[in-house]
Amino acid sequence: MAGRIVREDVEALRAQADIVAVVGDYTQLRRAGKSWKGLCPFHTERTPSFTCTPDGNFFHCFGCGASGDVYDFLQRVEGLDFPESVEALARRTGFPLRYEQLSARDRQAVGERSRLVEVTRLAREHYVARLLGEEGTAARTYLKERGFGRPEADAFALGYATEAWDDLSRALTGAGVAAEDLVKVGLSVRNDRGGLRDRFRARVVFPIMDARGDVIGFGGRILPGIDHGDFEPPKYLNSPETPLYRKSRVLYGVPQARQAIVARGRVLVCEGYTDVIALHQAGFANAVATCGTAVGAEHLRALARYAPEVVLAFDADRAGIQAAERAWEAAREVAAGGSTPLHLSVLPLPTGRDPADLAREGGAEGVEAAVAAAQPVVPFLLRARLADADLATDQGRTAALRAALEVLGREPDADLRRVWARDEIARPLGVAYDFVVATAGRMGVTLDAVAGVAARRRDPAARGAVAVDARGAATAEVRLERAVLRAVLQVPRLLPAAAAELAAEAFRHPVARTVWEAVAAAGGPGAAVDAVAAAAADDDVRGHVRAIALEEDPAEAGDPALRAEAVRDLVSRLLERRLEGEEAGLRDRLAAADAADDATARAEALRALQELGRRRRALREPAPEGAGPAGGPEASEGA
Ligand SMILES: [Zn+2]
Repeated sequence: MAGRIVREDVEALRAQADIVAVVGDYTQLRRAGKSWKGLCPFHTERTPSFTCTPDGNFFHCFGCGASGDVYDFLQRVEGLDFPESVEALARRTGFPLRYEQLSARDRQAVGERSRLVEVTRLAREHYVARLLGEEGTAARTYLKERGFGRPEADAFALGYATEAWDDLSRALTGAGVAAEDLVKVGLSVRNDRGGLRDRFRARVVFPIMDARGDVIGFGGRILPGIDHGDFEPPKYLNSPETPLYRKSRVLYGVPQARQAIVARGRVLVCEGYTDVIALHQAGFANAVATCGTAVGAEHLRALARYAPEVVLAFDADRAGIQAAERAWEAAREVAAGGSTPLHLSVLPLPTGRDPADLAREGGAEGVEAAVAAAQPVVPFLLRARLADADLATDQGRTAALRAALEVLGREPDADLRRVWARDEIARPLGVAYDFVVATAGRMGVTLDAVAGVAARRRDPAARGAVAVDARGAATAEVRLERAVLRAVLQVPRLLPAAAAELAAEAFRHPVARTVWEAVAAAGGPGAAVDAVAAAAADDDVRGHVRAIALEEDPAEAGDPALRAEAVRDLVSRLLERRLEGEEAGLRDRLAAADAADDATARAEALRALQELGRRRRALREPAPEGAGPAGGPEASEGA
């Protein structure tokens, strides 16, 4: 599909996009000077190092190095390709994209995906119309009994699939949809005679949308009180696996919940569609549901992009405990893959009660209290193991101890293992901690005190401290080059006349040099950061350009007049450093000419040295009248 969208539109849309608003859907941003800062959606962090700026429309994370423009952001955060990111942004802002005339071959190449999501969109509209129409009376009554009215129906695009065999199939093929496509998206099934029969019949229909709002599948709840003859249909039915719908990664309610998840830093994961809707109704819009499957690694990876904290709202029965255990396994798999470690906790529900009951009966306060009482997943599992045990006998206690240690042994954090062994195993079992340690040792589970020290040594925060030291030790030379580039990219108007002498050779650090080369290729200091990024040799350099354009040095904040003076000083020092190098070379030449008694070479070297001295003095001269910063536009840029 690449290249189908008219190039000018891509550029115009990028230019008018508000990256702060787009990013703000995924992470909370706060104003910091002329840019905005927040927690990076691409890596886990406690202090914000993700920065973006509306004037250049780009972002950079000083923590993980993620960097790019508004399209790069959408591609990365939503897993889109380039044209999809353009379309997503256009949809968001109501920008009318134009498409180039398609050749026959292009038309063939047009993604199957966009054709199929058009089919599912039409199906959603059909089901919504049925719910609101005459046929939908019973379905509306059913929803009303559950406490859902028109606002919920609208927010979640609830629909109704009638009892007829082929109501949807007939309507959509009549509207020009290919029968093949209806089968492909799992809405229709071929019957023995080759005709089409609807998969969803006599059901309240819940469209399942991806983060972009494209319908990728449906869930259906059978309407009670309908005679199905001998055949008893399943209560819940979901779309089968299709090119659009993969249940291992699908979550219900993401487009409706995304903003609230980001804002609260937490997501509630339920098992039912109506749980999600009831929680939204109670003011907990940060709820989603898996669609007929356990929480897996792909679900968690998707959720980790929005919030670090995942609360599983599961039944406290055996199935719920198993589901929590599998989710914990998936979370360990995600963490082992090097991505975001999640805080996984369990909100245990009384048997037979679902989150919808909780929301209906307890309201917002009830849900709030339950979320606050959620237990981290490991203590939850340990308590479940002990609850099963017969603690009245030695044998029962030993069996419970071994069952609990079997769970604890899978916790990778040694410090947490020790804490939980004491608080969640030894104490409730009424046995000595030493006894737990000895039993654990026989089972190959380490609980020794030394492990804690080792764990702290492996602690990323501790490693971070070392990295800061290494950065601090970076030579003054590198810092000077970086500071000059900051001035070049951030406040080019403050550059002194001598900046015209800056050249690639003035930069010794390879990164600084490539960044300078991008500046030069874009037309020199004063070029827009976008243009400099576009002129950069590769993505790596582009990342550095954006980082330098956004990075702040507290020493550089404050009075604009002082800043101008500081910039002049920086540029002089950088140029002087280069002249010093040249001077050393000339003095060598002079010494060589003396030694060889070469009068001509001697005179030449002396002339060059004099010229050099003049250039050095010129560097220190104040900027020409009128070129100074007083009253310049940067006057407002301080702090
Ligand atoms: Zn980051």
